[in-house]
This record gives sequence, structure tokens and C-alpha cells, in this order.
Amino acid sequence: MPQGTLFIVSAPSGAGKTSLVRELVESLDGLQVSVSHTTRERRQGEVNGVNYHFVAVADFEAMIERGEFFEYARVFDNYYGTSQSSVQAMLAAGQDVILEIDWQGARQVRRQLPDAVSIFILPPSREELERRLASRGTDEHAVIERRMREAVEEMSHHDEYAYLVINDDFTTALRELQSLVIARRLTLARMRERHGPLLASLLSRTPGVE
Ligand code: 5GP
Repeated sequence: MPQGTLFIVSAPSGAGKTSLVRELVESLDGLQVSVSHTTRERRQGEVNGVNYHFVAVADFEAMIERGEFFEYARVFDNYYGTSQSSVQAMLAAGQDVILEIDWQGARQVRRQLPDAVSIFILPPSREELERRLASRGTDEHAVIERRMREAVEEMSHHDEYAYLVINDDFTTALRELQSLVIARRLTLARMRERHGPLLASLLSRTPGVE
């Protein structure tokens, strides 16, 4: 069974990454999102085991000790990490896997799997990003300013990624993400893995012999 491909998707908060990734996974077969572990509080509407595995700090640190993370990072006062088991099993089963992670995690993944495809999603403008960050609840000015600083910090790492997608029009951005996944599936290496018998048959020089 050929191994699946790992896609890294990063973005600042407010770029629309989660909605795009959800649609992307629904629109293509053989593509799944890895569910991360985190120590942050569960937000309204989030489901344990679906959006994240919500765990206590002590449990997360015990997992670090046992070497159970493929990658992990501290992002804005909380731990976030991808467990080895969730990713390896899916890749081994030939599934393509998306990791929705920050730039620190992306670096760790690239070091281990240089073949991973990394994509950074950007908002269409500074004003739009500010608008999206401000429209999240009834937050004070200071909170929005802090989110903006964190977003700029995350975006300063965009140049470590192979692909940039700008989420202005949602449908266009989704199509661009789909194109990246499909293009990767059509590379010579992937096609050879999946269609070895077809290629052998097409290239046979003896009529009637496969
Ligand atoms: P949020 O708390 O808004 O869901 O996520 C905050 C940040 O943590 C986002 O930049 C998100 O990409 C990142 N993040 C989520 N899961 C992981 C993970 O498993 N590993 C790493 N390194 N970052 C993650």
C-alpha cells in the first residue's frame, strides 16, 4: 500500500483556515484531518475528539515524556500537538493527511518529512483581518490588539512554506487548495506507486503480453 502524503496548513487566526480545511476534506476522497491534542479550554460548540483531544497540562507533559508526539508546540500559553499514532496509521493506510498546525510545528514536521507539502493561508488585507478578529465575540480593544500581534507574528513565517493561498473569495481559495492536493497526487512518484501494473502493461513491447 503506498503511503499517503502529509499536507501542512498554517495561517493566522482569522484567515479562515478551519472552514477551508473542513470543506476541502469533505470535497475530496482519501483526505483526512489529524485531530490534535491541546491543553486550551474548549470553546463553545467544540467537541472533544472531533475538534481537538482536550487534555490536562499534566497529561500533555506525560505524552511529551513518552515521546508520543510527532510534533508539538506552545502556542499562546497553551500546548498543541499531533500524536504519532494519529498520523502514522492514516499515512500507512494510504490516506492523505492534513495537519492544521502553527509555524513551529511545521518546522518540526519538515525536518522529519521533507516531502510534506506546506501551505500558508493569508487573509486578503490587513483591514479584513482586523475586521475578522474584532468580530469574534465582545472582546476589548486590548484583546483584539494582542490577536493582531499574534497574527502578524504567525504571518511573518509565511516564507517557510512552499505554497501561499489568499482567502479572499472562499470558493476560489478552496479550489486552490483542492488543486494543490490533486497536483500532488498526479506527480510521477505517486502515480508510479499507484499505477505500477498499468504502466507495465502500457509499456510492454510484446503484443498481448502484460
Ligand atoms: P486555536 O486555539 O485557535 O484552535 O489554535 C491556535 C493555533 O494553534 C493555530 O495557529 C493552530 O494552527 C495551532 N495548532 C492547532 N493544533 C496544533 C498542533 O497540533 N500543533 C501545533 N504545532 N500547532 C497547532
